Amino acid sequence: MTAVSQPLRRGFKAHAGRLALAVRNELGLAAADPLDPYALAELYGIPVLDLADPAMPREAVRHFTGPAADSFSGALVAVGSVRAIVENHVHDTRRRRATVAHEMAHVLLEHDFGLLVTGSGLCGTTATSVEREADELAGELLLPRDAARTAALRGWTDAAVARRFGVSKRLARWRLNATGARTIACRHRAKRPRFAAARTADDGIAGPGDVTVPDSGAVPVSGAVPVGDAVPVSGDSNSGTDPGSRSEPRHVGPS
Ligand SMILES: [Zn+2]
Repeated sequence: MTAVSQPLRRGFKAHAGRLALAVRNELGLAAADPLDPYALAELYGIPVLDLADPAMPREAVRHFTGPAADSFSGALVAVGSVRAIVENHVHDTRRRRATVAHEMAHVLLEHDFGLLVTGSGLCGTTATSVEREADELAGELLLPRDAARTAALRGWTDAAVARRFGVSKRLARWRLNATGARTIACRHRAKRPRFAAARTADDGIAGPGDVTVPDSGAVPVSGAVPVGDAVPVSGDSNSGTDPGSRSEPRHVGPS
């Protein structure tokens, strides 16, 4: 999809990088470790519900788990004074991870969230600066800039990076490109054709490997969740971050 993207405010990428690093440290993660968005939500006391929750309005659930499944990825909603994430459980695991990371980015950035929904084309039909910020931070959380650069220098493919970090190939490609990782790696190789053979083994990432992607891990919440009317028919259903989760790369290219 063609993103109608607004530029990020000056200095935001650096801010997102620092914030993501602090949060990943809170979770005890090294730079090359995959992040579990559900553990992050739990750490911040944000329940993660899915459309199978009995409190969800049946008609909307049928719509968003059926013909319009691609149009709703997730939302950050208010449950009284508490915030909760609602995700679309019919999506594949990597897309769901990206959705939850995107909604958590809204939380971490303290966005005003009356209702933030992530759909399939965009987090909404307009790519607001708020959505771009959430995408950027979620990208840093899931695949930090430094890890992307290290992976690129090692010559990992998009698929290998995606497997390692539990993200879609599209998201991996977006991060590898948007962070300049691929460009830097190419330049490096041009200068040092034999770099690959000379690389050291202590740069943080041992090998692509496969991430054990935890099964959703939705945190059950008791009590009714008045999300009903809150579930928009249109709205940003592209869980931002997962460039790989959208039908088209949103913004710069995640999803
Ligand atoms: Zn959003």
